Amino acid sequence: MDQRLIIVSNRLPYKVYIDDQGKLKAERSAGGLASALGPLHDQDASLWVGWNDHSAIPLLPNHKRHDAKTIHEANDLLRSHRCIPIELTTREAKGYYDGFSNSTIWPLFHDFPHFAHFEEDTWKTYVAVNRHFCDAIADIYQPGDIIWIQDYHLMLLPDMLRCLFPSATIGFFLHIPFPDYEEFRKLPWRSEILSGLLGADLIGFHTYDYVRHFLTSCHRVLGREDHFGSFLINDRTSQADVFPLGIDYQRFARQVRSTSAKKMIRTFRREHSSLKGKVMLSVERLDYSKGIPDRLLAFEAFLKAYPEWIEKVTLVLITVPSRENVTSYHALKRSIDELVGRINGELSTVDWQPIDYYYRSIPFESLCTIYRASDVMLVTPLRDGMNLVSKEYLAAHDGTSGVLILSEMAGSVHELSDALIVNPFDQHAIVEAIHKALTMPKDEQIRRNETMQKRLKRYTSDKWAHQFLHALSQVKESQQHLGTARIDAAKQTSIAQAFRNAHRKVLLLDYDGTLMPFSKDPRSVVPDKKLITLLKRLSEQNDTTVVILSGRDKQTLGTWLGDLSIDMVAEHGVWFWDKIKHVWILGEPMDASWKKRIRPIVEDYVDRTPGSSMEEKDYSLVWHYRTCIRDLADRRVCELKNDLSSVVDDLGLTIMDGNKVIEIKPASIEKGAAAHRWFRDKSYDFILVAGDDVTDESMFHAAPDNALTIKVGNHATYAHLSVENVEHMRKLLSSLVNDTTPSN
Ligand code: UDP
Repeated sequence: MDQRLIIVSNRLPYKVYIDDQGKLKAERSAGGLASALGPLHDQDASLWVGWNDHSAIPLLPNHKRHDAKTIHEANDLLRSHRCIPIELTTREAKGYYDGFSNSTIWPLFHDFPHFAHFEEDTWKTYVAVNRHFCDAIADIYQPGDIIWIQDYHLMLLPDMLRCLFPSATIGFFLHIPFPDYEEFRKLPWRSEILSGLLGADLIGFHTYDYVRHFLTSCHRVLGREDHFGSFLINDRTSQADVFPLGIDYQRFARQVRSTSAKKMIRTFRREHSSLKGKVMLSVERLDYSKGIPDRLLAFEAFLKAYPEWIEKVTLVLITVPSRENVTSYHALKRSIDELVGRINGELSTVDWQPIDYYYRSIPFESLCTIYRASDVMLVTPLRDGMNLVSKEYLAAHDGTSGVLILSEMAGSVHELSDALIVNPFDQHAIVEAIHKALTMPKDEQIRRNETMQKRLKRYTSDKWAHQFLHALSQVKESQQHLGTARIDAAKQTSIAQAFRNAHRKVLLLDYDGTLMPFSKDPRSVVPDKKLITLLKRLSEQNDTTVVILSGRDKQTLGTWLGDLSIDMVAEHGVWFWDKIKHVWILGEPMDASWKKRIRPIVEDYVDRTPGSSMEEKDYSLVWHYRTCIRDLADRRVCELKNDLSSVVDDLGLTIMDGNKVIEIKPASIEKGAAAHRWFRDKSYDFILVAGDDVTDESMFHAAPDNALTIKVGNHATYAHLSVENVEHMRKLLSSLVNDTTPSN
């Protein structure tokens, strides 16, 4: 990659520590993000911007706090590793990190709204800290840089940067779930958060569910509608998509193969599996989203339901200290301590205790050993954005047995479907899964793991990062296409000039969405007086042919526009208007007998989808869903297409996906073929084709090279030019008549 990459995250990827000589040193952190983005950061000129949390630096001997010199030195050290440290005051850290990030966003986004605090003060600090980050990036930003922002601490940053650098390349990745709209709407600052995120060109999520929730929230909160996950924001697109984070698979698989690791594995098993019993493992940060108390209760219930496993299985429970400044975590720690004490007190025997409990962080080498030495891994979070430990466990069991029990609420479940999947709220299901895991034959374990390991090996953290950046560059490329296609004032003048200079001119115009805006009731889109005058004046120009090509039925077009001296094509090319005789002529012989088969199917969808309706044209059937609830309509569109797909080919029909309509019509009928009548006439030296919909794309495609093809709106198109909306299209057409030589 030759562009400079600026990675931005809450924390920097280096830990500052004090070595044996009392000197400050920095080493790369082991976290999932640091290892995923480390190789990219290592590339020349890449930078990483993040908070330098002094409290994470160990104190020098005989020091109560870090002095200014130590902080200065630590910052210099980080800078030598191409990090840009952000300084926060204790008050800022408290409000932004412990407060808004971890006491508002984290609980709300993990379905724990009762833990969420909505406080104006912490929100303001969150805004201010995002602004600090923005200022720090502004100091180093150079045009052409790629800025990639990570996670929920910095959701306002994309738009802040966008305001400063409108054409910057900005990516954002959310590492936690995006909640359902019903949860998200509770956030008093929901609009600000969404607008902040939409400042990015590409917004990545771990799963499609999170993307869906985000799109729904944008629609319900901001009234913004997406087109296949893409929003149009002024002259730019913002795309939401799925990129599930992977792991550095080989790092784990390699580690457990070393001789020292093998020795450690044997020792671990000796210590934790008395009487040749089995070891179950549970390892994660101490967090309420991880479902640790529910898991302990399920383990207790298992031992009571299957007492033959008493003394034969030990649960090694490792909880890693986390967010110790946040109040809700204190109560959780207490309740886990108590639960472990009670269960061990009740069920322990002289030689055995059911739970070996550790409250500490585990270094990488030991973690790999523990993964490998455990027969079963219990991962039952109540909600988890991705969950890397489930993937790491499988990597440490590369090619071997070992059973993963995985919560269906973890993001990783979409990739690890051969695990034993459980609902973490269903204690009975967990009990049965534990039993199944402990009694599962080795060959079944290996077989299940193989499929999952294959995927994890292929879709690594490295690949994740590259795929995201590749998608970001594609979004940027498509935006450039949008930008160059836009008709500005100068282009409008040159089009008008070309029109004036031409000898024979033809204008092929779509109606709905091109000359008239859409409405909930298609029957109400009657042409207004201004449009009638405009079309009349255009058709009165010397040697000018005006053609309206519409999907509408011939009666409607005839009633609305029949008095003008223009050509018309109805039903996408079925009917052609004879403007002299005032009659509609069939373009080619047609058969409508297929409607008998298709009509009941569409009617069934009308019955099952409130707000939808069927329109019957002479040679097509249309299912309208503009006024339906969006989620239901999306589902029905897929179902209807699916139901129709088996019959349309045999009947020579095609399914057309229009603007909130599904139209079923003979495959041979399309606007492009209908427009041929004018395209093949080589004497036209000015051809203008305009449309907004997918149904107009066939016209753009079929148009001769010298035609001016104009898309109304910004979606991907075959057209070479675009205008923003109906109003701009009408202005362009008006400029053709206004600029003609005045008659004397
Ligand atoms: N981990 C660690 N030290 C430990 C235990 C776990 O560094 O003592 C790592 C683990 O290898 C994994 C990460 O912490 O990469 C936890 O990621 P996960 O997605 O499972 O959960 P999160 O903590 O991000 O919610």
